Amino acid sequence: MKILVLGSGAREHAIILALRSEETEHEIFAAPGNAGIGQDAQLVALDVNDPAAVTVFANENNIDLVVIGPEAPLVAGVADAVREHGIPVFGPGRAAAQLEGSKAFAKRVMDAAGVPTGRAKRAASRAEVEAAFDELGAPHVVKADGLAAGKGVIVTSDRAAALAHADEYLPSGPVLIEEFLAGPEVSLFFLSDGDHVLPLSPAQDYKRLLDGDEGPNTGGMGAYSPLPWLDGRFGSEREFVELVTRDVAEPVIRQLDAEGTPFIGLLYAGLILTDDGVKVIEFNARFGDPETQVVLPRLVDPLSELLLAAASGHLEDLPLPAFANDVAVTVVLASEGYPAAPVTGRALSGLREAEAVAGVHLAHAATAETDGGLVATGGRVLNVVGVGTTFAEARERVYRALGEIRLDGGQHRTDIAARVAEGL
Ligand code: AMP
Repeated sequence: MKILVLGSGAREHAIILALRSEETEHEIFAAPGNAGIGQDAQLVALDVNDPAAVTVFANENNIDLVVIGPEAPLVAGVADAVREHGIPVFGPGRAAAQLEGSKAFAKRVMDAAGVPTGRAKRAASRAEVEAAFDELGAPHVVKADGLAAGKGVIVTSDRAAALAHADEYLPSGPVLIEEFLAGPEVSLFFLSDGDHVLPLSPAQDYKRLLDGDEGPNTGGMGAYSPLPWLDGRFGSEREFVELVTRDVAEPVIRQLDAEGTPFIGLLYAGLILTDDGVKVIEFNARFGDPETQVVLPRLVDPLSELLLAAASGHLEDLPLPAFANDVAVTVVLASEGYPAAPVTGRALSGLREAEAVAGVHLAHAATAETDGGLVATGGRVLNVVGVGTTFAEARERVYRALGEIRLDGGQHRTDIAARVAEGL
């Protein structure tokens, strides 16, 4: 197949590595990509948020499948334009992508579909924010209603800090105040063709910057998959996945279809396992980053077949995707100053030594090749991914490889998958 992947993060690199690992060889194009992606795909200079530019490229190059990684092109209507031209595209249209782009839209769809989620209030003024805090109690959860790359959310018991966060976003529209949900978090991905869904294997990510879940929220600092501790709560991973498929994914996909905005692409369910049952905290309309980096290396089936079947309405014909028993751990290396003000342009080295560690590969995020060598160009620079038979082994591999990489001021968490490696 000729496949065009849009995006430039470690998620897109993970998608491309999964496509490359298939027995069938594909011709893979990536726009805009990064230094790591450039080693595994043909880089194309394209404005990925320009529906016409993407469509023209896909047409002229006889692309068989377009895979949209990040949210921005979805919201810009790139999937709609490509689909209108009869080219299979994995990614929802602008209307269905609001499931991620607008938290108010997501709440409405969940209510209509009867999907379990926390109580929430829209607040358009400071007085409404205060009233919602009083009604829903502490800790306070404040969310900006728009795309904020995972950074528009604050969860805190400090009312003044929560108010200050709301003040920051109120000038650009209402904010969402949510009931705090307590319990472990799980990310579960579903492939959807608008009608049918197929679940992938669950993962857990680490949103906070620092060890022990301290510090600010980020786009994600690490992840692991699978989640063996689900067995104790639900009997098995399979039973958990079936429950979420039935109670969350299928009702939402049916609801969007009934509203005339079918969701074709990746439905990401961010879940909290409360004492009161599984509840949704958010949906994303694309593969999660960094969870993709630990889910796809465990996928046994050819990813291209799954994505093409979703993009062309044939998921019903496929069996449940199979996953290896191996476990995967990823740790993000971020630039100094991330997430508030990442320092960019610093030299990055030791990658070859890191990749020489058994069971380790790298997924690049913000890297570029310059005349002076490889440099970091953004906040989350790259993911070190380790696969092993146990979490202890995968962790040991990841951290050994990280020890080989040099980036001045670089930061990473040291506790990713530490508890699960201890059997907790
Ligand atoms: P979101 O962008 O909605 O995923 O929120 C980012 C992170 O904030 C989540 O991964 C959770 O850790 C936390 N969070 C969001 N909503 C809630 C909630 N209602 N209760 C507790 N934690 C939450």
